[in-house]
Amino acid sequence: MQTNIIEIFSSVQGEGRYVGCRQLFVRFEGCNLHCGYCDTENEAGAHLMCNVEIAPGARRFREIINPLDANEAAAYINQFLLELPHQAVSLTGGEPLLQTRFLQELLPMVQGKIMLETNGTLPERLAEVLPLVDIISMDIKLPQNTGVDMWSKHKEFLQLAVDNHKDVYAKLVLPGDLVEEDFQKAVEVIASVDDNTLLILQPVTPMNGVPPIEPGRVLELQQMALERLKDVRVIPQTHRMMDQL
Ligand code: SF4
Repeated sequence: MQTNIIEIFSSVQGEGRYVGCRQLFVRFEGCNLHCGYCDTENEAGAHLMCNVEIAPGARRFREIINPLDANEAAAYINQFLLELPHQAVSLTGGEPLLQTRFLQELLPMVQGKIMLETNGTLPERLAEVLPLVDIISMDIKLPQNTGVDMWSKHKEFLQLAVDNHKDVYAKLVLPGDLVEEDFQKAVEVIASVDDNTLLILQPVTPMNGVPPIEPGRVLELQQMALERLKDVRVIPQTHRMMDQL
């Protein structure tokens, strides 16, 4: 099984529960959604080359011809893990769950903990790789950003992760023009599955004309969420502040 991989590199996790941890990132092509604030060029088939960092943290890359087969990708990943301990290997994108057949081959060969960064809308795909994944960072996508209503998919996805006792948390980007009704719905969906689920509120990084959210509004929203959930934290994209990859 082969697939296009955009890049493999070692850096600091900039978002979510494991912010600050050293992780190895494997970025996959393609996504099933089209968010207005998306910062990843992830069109399927667009990457003829995979950028592989020459050493963990070198911030210089060599180009490997895509697609990579699972053995080849595992060899690069395990070499990085051998050179430097990483808290986890982060599967990111795009949407990594579009590549479940590839992941079924790749993940058993990886000698490290696996973290899945996902938009949380493909529960059927999650079920295919769930035993191979340790940590799930699940985005909650608002209809105002994607143009589609994903509430039932999000609920099914989170339920599956919780039922299988996965280390799962939800992450919600707060745009400047947040629709409060959608925010409350997101909180309700999480609470209806498990009110112990950590919710990370991530104020949007203002770029490409996306408006920032007011600081006072962020506090109001955290307070609102804390009325239904036990652990709600505000964490921006810290890797951008530090000029990390
Ligand atoms: S789900 Fe993530 S990768 Fe896909 S379009 Fe939205 S922000 Fe981009």
